[in-house]
Amino acid sequence: MVITNGIAPTSAPSTVGTPTISPPPPITDPLPYVSLKTGLCYDVRMRYHAKIVTNAYDYTDPHPEDPRRVYRIYKALAEAGLVDMKGASGAEHIGGKLMQHIPAREATKEEVTLVHEIKHWDFIERTASMTQDELVEETDNGDSVYFNNESWFCAKLSCGGVIDTCKAVVRGDVKNAIAVVRPPGHHAEPYKPAGFCMFNNVAVASRVILKEFPEQVKKILILDWDIHHGNGTQRAFYNDPNVLYISLHRYDNGKFYPGGTFGNYDKVGEGPGEGRNVNIPWPCGGMGDGDYIYAFQRTVMPIAEEFGPDLVILSSGFDAAPGDELGECFVSPAAYGHMTHMLKSLAHGKLAVVLEGGYNLDSIATSALGVTKVLIGDAPIPLTNVYARPEAVQTVDKVSRTQARFWKCMKIGHMIHDLPEAPAVERLQDIIRRYQASQLFAHFSMTKLPIFRDRISRSFEDQVLCTPGFQSAKTVVVIVHDPPDVWTEPDPVTGQISLHDTFVMDAEIKYIQWAHQKGYGVVDINAPAVFTDQEDEGYNVQAALQDLCLYVWDNYLDLSDARNFVFVGVGEACGGHVYLLGHREVRERVRAAIAFAGAKTVFPIVPIMDEFITDWYYKNSLVLTSSNHPMWEQSNGGKNPRKKYGNVQKTEYETMNELLIGKYSDVIAFAEEDIEESSSEEEDAGPDRKRLKNDGSSDEGLVDGVIPTSAAIM
Ligand SMILES: [Zn+2]
Repeated sequence: MVITNGIAPTSAPSTVGTPTISPPPPITDPLPYVSLKTGLCYDVRMRYHAKIVTNAYDYTDPHPEDPRRVYRIYKALAEAGLVDMKGASGAEHIGGKLMQHIPAREATKEEVTLVHEIKHWDFIERTASMTQDELVEETDNGDSVYFNNESWFCAKLSCGGVIDTCKAVVRGDVKNAIAVVRPPGHHAEPYKPAGFCMFNNVAVASRVILKEFPEQVKKILILDWDIHHGNGTQRAFYNDPNVLYISLHRYDNGKFYPGGTFGNYDKVGEGPGEGRNVNIPWPCGGMGDGDYIYAFQRTVMPIAEEFGPDLVILSSGFDAAPGDELGECFVSPAAYGHMTHMLKSLAHGKLAVVLEGGYNLDSIATSALGVTKVLIGDAPIPLTNVYARPEAVQTVDKVSRTQARFWKCMKIGHMIHDLPEAPAVERLQDIIRRYQASQLFAHFSMTKLPIFRDRISRSFEDQVLCTPGFQSAKTVVVIVHDPPDVWTEPDPVTGQISLHDTFVMDAEIKYIQWAHQKGYGVVDINAPAVFTDQEDEGYNVQAALQDLCLYVWDNYLDLSDARNFVFVGVGEACGGHVYLLGHREVRERVRAAIAFAGAKTVFPIVPIMDEFITDWYYKNSLVLTSSNHPMWEQSNGGKNPRKKYGNVQKTEYETMNELLIGKYSDVIAFAEEDIEESSSEEEDAGPDRKRLKNDGSSDEGLVDGVIPTSAAIM
C-alpha cells in the first residue's frame, strides 16, 4: 500500500494487521516563535531615583512618578504566576517557563547621544554630584522633573534596559518583551529632560537598533498610547522616514500636558519624514475601550500594516487606565490586551513593550498584566464596551483625512481633491433652504420676512419666512430651527454620495401644518449650522441667531396683534428663542416655549428682566431631550437639571426626527392647553386683562417681578 504523510488514502484497503508507521520527524522546529519565551526587563535598583522630601506634603501626597510603580507591576506579574516568585523582591527570581529575564545595564554616552545633545547628557551626569540644595533648585526650575543623586544612575539603567530589551527581541532571543522601567522617557526632548523623563529610552533604543541591525531592521513603528503626547519621541524622528511615530493622547485643544499644538493631528512630520507622524488627539477626558479599539481598527492598524515595520516598540504608559488622576480615562486591561494582540500581528511578532507613565499603582499593575498575558500567548479578555463616542469618531475621521495624503489605506472613502471655486460649487445647505422656502410658499403661502440690518441680513438672507398677515393673527407660532437632517450612504470607496440614496428629513413641517390648520400665524427662522458667507466667518452662529431673534421680536412680533405666542425651537437653534425669553418682557404673551433639544445643548434662561423669569420659564416650557443626551449619564449624577434649564424631560427617542414625530401629540396638547386657557381667561377677564396688556406693552410697566398674566403664575 501507498502511505503519504503517514495518512492512508481513502481507497486503501483495511489496515487491520498491517504494521503501524510513524510520521517522519520534522526537519525544522515547526513553530519557532511560539517556543520562545517573553522577555522581562526589571531591575529593583530603578527605585533609587526618588523625589527629595522638602515638606510634609511629600509624605501625605507623594509625587505621582513614585518609585513603587515598577515594583507593583513586577509583583502583579509574579502573583499571577508569570515569573518565578520567591518573595517577589527582585530581579534574581525572574525566570520560569513563560518569561525570560533581560538584565538592565547602564546606557553609554555613545548610545544616549544618538538622540540627546552632549550638554543634556552632561547635565544629567552632574546631578549625581550636586548638593541637596542644588538638586532641589534644579527640580524647581525644571519642566516637571525631579532629581536626586541616584537619578543619573537610574536614567542610564532605564535607558540601557530598554536598549537591551529591543535587542533581545530583534535577535530572536525572546519572541517579544516588556521592559518595566523608570524613569520614563517619551517627554525627554533631545536637548532637555521634561515630564518626569530624563533620557528618551524608546528613541535612544530605536536609534541604536537602526545603527546596529541595519539589515534586519530598516523600519521601526513606535506606538505611544500613554495618555500624554510623546513630544520628545516625535521631535527625535520628525524628519526620519524610517521611524513611524503614532500617538493616541489627550490633547484638549492644546491645554493637556505637554501643551501647545505639537500633538495635534495636523503635525505629520516634515522633510523626508513627512507622513511618518500620526497624532490621534482626543479632545477631552473620559475616553474608553470603544474609542481606542475604534482608532486602532480605523487608523492605527491600517497605517501600520501599510508601513510594514521590522520592529514595533510600544511606548506603554498606563495613565489612560481607570483610576489614573492625571489621565481621567477608562481603558481597561481587556482593551490593553486587545491592542497588544493587534500589534503582535506586525513585524513577525517582534514587539517590545516599554513602560512610560501611569500613576495609579493598582491600575498600572492590572493593565501591565493584561498586556503581558497577551505577549506570552494568552487570548485577550473579551471586551464589554466596544461603542466609540462621537468625540472619538470625529477625531479619527480628522486624522484619516489628514493622513490620506500619505497612506493609500486612508484615501478610501475620503474626498482628497480640492473643490472648484464658486459659482461651480454650491453648498447643499443653501439648495435645501431654497427648496424649503419654495415648499413653504406653495403649501402655506409663506414669504420672506424682510430683515434690515447689515450684519443680520447678510447672514440670514432667505432664512426668515412668515405666513401672510401673521401680524393680525391672534396666535403666532414661532419656529426657530437648525437645518434639516440629511441621511446618506456614501460610496465606501470614493466617499461620494448618490442623490438617489440621500434623504432630507424635515419632520418640523408637521408643526407648520398644525399651526396652519388652526389658523395661527407662523414665523419660521432657519439657523444655518455654518455660515456660507465667507465675510461672516468668525461671527458666532449662536450670537447671530440671538441677535436675529431679538430683531424679529422687536420689529415684528412685539408690534403684532397676537395675544398668544408659541415658540418651538429645534436643535442648537433653541439657544435663539431661550435667549429672547430672558432678554425681553414676554411673559404676558408667550404661552409655551418648546425646545426639541435632542442630544444637543440644553440652554439655560438668563434672567435679565428679573429673577422670577426662571420660575416662569420652568412652568411654561417643555424641553425634550433624547435618551442618549449626556446630561442623563451616570457620571453627571443622573439628577434632574436645575429650573433655569426649563422643564427638561428625557424621552425614549434618539434622533431629532424621531423626537419631532414621536412627541408630536404631547407637544401640540401642551401648546393648545395654554392657548385655550389664556383665551378663555381673556374672555372672563375682559377689560382687566386688556388694561394689563396696555400697561405691559412697554418694558418699564413691568418691574419688581410683577407677573401680570395668570398663565405665568399657574
Ligand atoms: Zn503620561
